[in-house]
Amino acid sequence: MSYSSWVKSHGEKHNRIMEKLKDLSDDEVIEYFRFENMVEKEPDFCPLYKKSKKCHDIENLNCYLCACPNFRFSDSGFREVDGRTLYSICSVDSEDGREAVSQKAIHQDCSLCLIPHSEEFIRDVFRRDWFEIFNRF
Ligand code: SF4
Repeated sequence: MSYSSWVKSHGEKHNRIMEKLKDLSDDEVIEYFRFENMVEKEPDFCPLYKKSKKCHDIENLNCYLCACPNFRFSDSGFREVDGRTLYSICSVDSEDGREAVSQKAIHQDCSLCLIPHSEEFIRDVFRRDWFEIFNRF
């Protein structure tokens, strides 16, 4: 599955959950997306939930922004760099982001960056329609 297809399908899943949460305030919605609650109430939202495993092993992991609005991806690649195709970048050049370099490709590695999982960041960019968050950046 390409990244853009994944964003589309994940966003639709996200919006289906939001339909159920119409009566909650924004803060209550953000609380609902805390990892522990999501594992219990939305077991199909993330494949890791079935193993009760976190994508980042931290306390207070919030899953509202599973994808990061600062992440930029091109399915066909942005440009060639030293014989490799650059497929993804961080638009804010986070100090916790890295490059994953293989023989033919360069990808943004976000495994050490916690920006999109913090509730402070989620509150800053919050929209009830998940796609609107990504269209603003
Ligand atoms: S490095 Fe952090 S801020 Fe940058 S795209 Fe990845 S998760 Fe988002």
